[in-house]
Amino acid sequence: MPLKKNVCHHIADLESLKNPGIDYCEECIKTGDTWLHLRVCQTCGKVHCCDSSPNRHAAKHYESTGHAVVIPAEKNAGAWAYCFVHQAMADVSHLK
Ligand SMILES: [Zn+2]
Ligand SMILES: [Zn+2]
Ligand SMILES: [Zn+2]
Repeated sequence: MPLKKNVCHHIADLESLKNPGIDYCEECIKTGDTWLHLRVCQTCGKVHCCDSSPNRHAAKHYESTGHAVVIPAEKNAGAWAYCFVHQAMADVSHLK
């Protein structure tokens, strides 16, 4: 899949990747819920659960804050970024 094709300015403007190494969704922890994968907000560095998780906290964080871009929190998930505004995913392996 040619990921670069979908790059939007939110992703193109990233200068480095935020990944605090947190391995839980802080919103799910509060309510005792579980999650599938974790995403890191590239605006504020908060870690939330992905769209495949029951609570979709990363999407809710975007809806409440407008913070557009997330990357996977798991180091083995690859170097890509997703923009909620443009529903765009792009390779960011040039950043680290
Ligand atoms: Zn965008
Ligand atoms: Zn969550
Ligand atoms: Zn944020």
